[in-house]
Amino acid sequence: MSDRYDTDIPSIAPSGFGLRFLGVGGKGAKLGPVAVLERGDESLLMIDCAPGALDAHVAQYGRPPSNLYITHTHLDHIGGMEELFHTMIEAAEADPRQRIRVFAHAALVPSLQERLVCNRYIRAEGGVNFWDAFHFVPVDRGFWVDDLWFRVFESRHMQPRFCFGVALPGTFVYTGDTRPIPETLSDVADDDEMIFHDCSVRANPAHTGFVDMLSEYSADLLNRIVCYHYGSEAEAERLEQHGFRVARALERIPLTAARTGEKPAKVASISR
Ligand SMILES: [Zn+2]
Repeated sequence: MSDRYDTDIPSIAPSGFGLRFLGVGGKGAKLGPVAVLERGDESLLMIDCAPGALDAHVAQYGRPPSNLYITHTHLDHIGGMEELFHTMIEAAEADPRQRIRVFAHAALVPSLQERLVCNRYIRAEGGVNFWDAFHFVPVDRGFWVDDLWFRVFESRHMQPRFCFGVALPGTFVYTGDTRPIPETLSDVADDDEMIFHDCSVRANPAHTGFVDMLSEYSADLLNRIVCYHYGSEAEAERLEQHGFRVARALERIPLTAARTGEKPAKVASISR
């Protein structure tokens, strides 16, 4: 068979968009909350970078992410950026064009700078600035990746303007760490999007518990919510016993394909 025919063979890749959690987050979980938006079977956008996220991404996709969105600057969300820095600086020595685009709300710039860059010992050899490894893009209402416009919205975590979720209209909403945000979801999740929501068994002042969900959200929203940021398989099972859908590490959850009208896989209806 000629080379031409080899390249014409279609790949047996899943079509459309999917969200795959490399880690699901909460206290006691193996890897902090890290999700990857896939187009087909390719990584399009990694959301947050917990310690260990780079290795998990390379294990799944065979390469570092090309695009990274940061929700906020707690270390279980950015603690993996130092290893990303070292890997990308080495890659850039071979090919200076190799840089990951990092998107974060402009309000996070001071705290990203303080936590990642004001560490004078990050590279003992010197001669390199932290942001040399990245193409950093501060954002406000949203940002482009290829032909896709992602919306950015404020979540409710710890203090105002500290955590920002991300949404692909018509496809998915990812809350980041948050207490319930019904007013925000009535806007950013008004087009049948699947909603990936911080949710554990017990609430605390910074995170959502399932009882909060039941009192704050409509049946329509609850039926589209997939919980993440829980600590153990036992917690996941408790959430399922209460009728919630739960994301598992490495599971690919199919999403509506943006602009095609393709519907997501049905979420089992929740009865309580
Ligand atoms: Zn947090």
